[in-house]
Amino acid sequence: MNIAARCAVSFHYTLTDDEGAVLDSSRGNEPLEYLHGAGNIVPGLESAMEGRAPGDAFKVSIAPEQGYGVRVDALVQQMPRNMFEGMPEPQVGMQFQAESNMGPVMVTVIAVDESTVTLDGNHALAGATLHFEVEVVSVREASVEEVLHGHTHGPGGHHH
Ligand code: ZN
Repeated sequence: MNIAARCAVSFHYTLTDDEGAVLDSSRGNEPLEYLHGAGNIVPGLESAMEGRAPGDAFKVSIAPEQGYGVRVDALVQQMPRNMFEGMPEPQVGMQFQAESNMGPVMVTVIAVDESTVTLDGNHALAGATLHFEVEVVSVREASVEEVLHGHTHGPGGHHH
């Protein structure tokens, strides 16, 4: 069957950056499974999957707007160091969830000095063009439960 809304799709992928460096890959592991049409994967990849069938292999490059978004400078903020009292010592590279006016966001500590901690709320791949090499492994109709949950339950899918 061809990929359409409410299909459970499993696929292998390798994600590379503009220089061809591998950022992530499912090769050597189970293929990734997702529910098509539910926003489980980045929009550009989801639309590139539409209509594909098992065995299809293709490459697609996805602009940041259709990937993890563009970088937003306003998401980089300096916080007074004393706001972190009672928390683990802030260190560059540390990630944690913070509340924002757009809901919870993952932030990364990008700089620490005596009085301030600089936080970056951009996704690590914000602003990046994503180069995917994809092989569709299987396509099946999702169960009603999967559609209601908005994710798949098969191998490589969501586990409860
Ligand atoms: Zn579920």
